[in-house]
Amino acid sequence: MSGAAATNGGAACLACGGAQVERFLELKGVPVFCNVLWPTREAAQSAPRGDLDLGICRDCGHVFNLAFDPELVRYAEGYENSLHHSPRFQAYAEELALDLRRRHALDGKHVVEIACGQGDFLKLVCAGPGSVGTGFDPSFRGTVPGSNLAIRREYFGVSPLGRAPDLVCSRHALEHMDTPAAFVQMMKDAVPGDCDPVYFCEVPNSLYSLRDGGVWDFIYEHVSYFNARSLAACFARAGLRAVHTWETFAGQFLCLETGPEGSAAQLAAVPEGPELATMAAGLGGEVDRLLAHWRAEFARIAAAGGRVAVWGSGSKGVTFLNLMGADGAIGVPVDINPAKHGLYLPGVGRQVVSPAALPDLGIALVLVMNPVYTEEITGMVRALGITAPVTAV
Ligand SMILES: [Zn+2]
Repeated sequence: MSGAAATNGGAACLACGGAQVERFLELKGVPVFCNVLWPTREAAQSAPRGDLDLGICRDCGHVFNLAFDPELVRYAEGYENSLHHSPRFQAYAEELALDLRRRHALDGKHVVEIACGQGDFLKLVCAGPGSVGTGFDPSFRGTVPGSNLAIRREYFGVSPLGRAPDLVCSRHALEHMDTPAAFVQMMKDAVPGDCDPVYFCEVPNSLYSLRDGGVWDFIYEHVSYFNARSLAACFARAGLRAVHTWETFAGQFLCLETGPEGSAAQLAAVPEGPELATMAAGLGGEVDRLLAHWRAEFARIAAAGGRVAVWGSGSKGVTFLNLMGADGAIGVPVDINPAKHGLYLPGVGRQVVSPAALPDLGIALVLVMNPVYTEEITGMVRALGITAPVTAV
């Protein structure tokens, strides 16, 4: 499953352009879209698949998928990131918008957001008196959420911007780009040369996965996994200087802001590239070790006629069950989200059930996909009268 560290045959780092890229983890045939569930088993099993061939740059520590094929994801524009429905994520977005408004004194200013979705965040950033916002997103549908906002159903950079922006935002977009450095260059080139906006960029934080052994966090939709250094390097190639990088959302996200030459910089600490490469190499071995462990456990439980509740049918659960393959056949995906009940997971084609269905299923083990929720899930499982052990994957 995991490859020994090897050079990558000449591909350059997507972030800094460096040539020393080492492959550390190969996962074949994972679903291209982890969060799209299907109405039938057959449809789920024929959902598009792609390969992960992850490499890490020894210079900047950037992680990216060397096998990414943009054609596989291109047709699915309009696919919505389910994260935005989470109350916790929403509260965080409100806090972040307020912070940007205050620190950059955005009242009366013009904010541009690239890949703005339905404009919810743009509305929050432009909530001050006199602020105006322009959003860009080909997948926009519905109603513009404010009279001070304009949303163009097109990619940023296609047509002239009009009024000069004071802040240009991009949230959870850059990690999806097959050429992120070219994307940042385009962000800069699309802004008239006589204005000098602050660029704000937010992406998932790769240190969170590398540091905390998040082996199930690697998904096809994400081409890149940035750390603060690789993100700054990506911007530097376009002549944009990072003056502030910081972690948010309990370390899971990473933010960057640009500023003028000569201004003081406040950058998040990141281990050196070789140290990150060692951590990454360890993750490859960890996937093999964990899969071997859970294959043996599932076989033992299957032999006794039991089943395993796999709690959480987001990216982590989908990745785990797909990697387990036929050896995970007694795994029952469980989710508290009613919208997922009865639907089938992409690739492996297993049907999601509600927690209420578990008492009749002979559950001998409850496997929690995100350790953050172990305690909460244990409470729910015990309330259902299930005495099986509950443990994080
Ligand atoms: Zn690099």
